[in-house]
Amino acid sequence: MPRDVNPADFRGVWVYIEHRDGIAAEVSWELLGAGRGLADSLGVELAGVVLGHQVEPLAAEAFAYGADKVYLVDDPLLAEFRVEAHARAFTRLIETYRPEIVLMGATPCGRELSGTVATAVAAGLTADTTELAVNPENRLLEATRPTFGGKLLATIVCERWRPQMATVRPGVMPRPEPQFRRGGSVVRASLDLSEADLVTRVLERIREPGRADALEKAEVVVAGGRGLGDKRNFALLHELAEVLGGAVAATRAAVDAGWISRDHQVGQTGKTVRPRLYFAIGISGAIQHVVGMQQSGLIVAVNNDASAPIFEVADFGIVGDLFRVVPALTEEFRNRLRGAVGSASSGTGPVGERSDGGGG
Ligand SMILES: Cc1cc2nc3c(=O)[nH]c(=O)nc-3n(C[C@H](O)[C@H](O)[C@H](O)COP(=O)(O)OP(=O)(O)OC[C@H]3O[C@@H](n4cnc5c(N)ncnc54)[C@H](O)[C@@H]3O)c2cc1C
Repeated sequence: MPRDVNPADFRGVWVYIEHRDGIAAEVSWELLGAGRGLADSLGVELAGVVLGHQVEPLAAEAFAYGADKVYLVDDPLLAEFRVEAHARAFTRLIETYRPEIVLMGATPCGRELSGTVATAVAAGLTADTTELAVNPENRLLEATRPTFGGKLLATIVCERWRPQMATVRPGVMPRPEPQFRRGGSVVRASLDLSEADLVTRVLERIREPGRADALEKAEVVVAGGRGLGDKRNFALLHELAEVLGGAVAATRAAVDAGWISRDHQVGQTGKTVRPRLYFAIGISGAIQHVVGMQQSGLIVAVNNDASAPIFEVADFGIVGDLFRVVPALTEEFRNRLRGAVGSASSGTGPVGERSDGGGG
């Protein structure tokens, strides 16, 4: 890509449709929703980029979530994620079709691919953005992200180089409703590589048992922090999560203490979640944690310090000792859910009438 680019030569908004074995990562659809708004503001097409082997069905899904067009590179060398092959395919597409904006998920694969592609095409890349907008007059992408440990929001523009690239974490943008009657056009491209050109080979894929990729999808998240005091006390959270069919998460303090693995961490350097219900238990509410959970539907905080900042973002606050409050909540929910499925058990008061609670 020449260093002096003419922005007028670049048109269109692209979204990388990340997938594993043809199952799309949710963030791909979230980004199509965001990309649709940008493309409409600019009056251009929204395209999905699908790279893989035997993955053409993803094109129809991409149309349903808002794409007008799909660029498809289908090749056995793309069957597993290998950054050299994927970056080559993506780079060739950019050089040929010249989009003005490229969005990717800030997932492990998306981060690696976006950095490699941005370097290859000499583009500007803003990582981990939380808001995306365009200025229709100068067509600049305004990519906003937290900076200085989450204390400031910086809006970054890339005036000279194209495309303008950004990554967004899963769960930050809402997923649009699919419209399965929508259609679009597929542009096929080939991969000019052979196995001998690649330095990596995937020998085996090993799934970590109980991995927390369920966290981003969970409708209920029960998160614990340093207030739990010990690894064993996470059992309290697992119990509550089990009763509510939710997933367990943690602050960085709990992760750094070795109480739970890093893939459970929510926050600036962890995951972003937006469940319908988020319990923050023994969590102070540092901004670096809050940025990862503040878009949850309903936030319930349990903390024995009435002045903890978590109560500023909580919809319901329970000031009390988590070792009393959490087992009581678990018991209460268990009884109510039993009641809801028709058992005779009853007689417990509403959660809001707990004696531990002082309100917050
Ligand atoms: C660059 C950077 C990135 C970061 N990224 C992240 C991130 O991604 N995610 C993240 O979480 N943090 C992150 N942090 C760390 C963050 O600043 C906080 O240090 C961390 O979130 C604090 O975790 P905590 O709330 O568990 O611990 P604390 O702040 O120590 O809070 C513990 C809370 O538990 C309460 N408590 C104690 N005992 C009880 C009890 N018996 N019952 C009820 N409540 C009790 C206390 O009142 C207190 O409010 C980052 C920091 C930096 C500098």
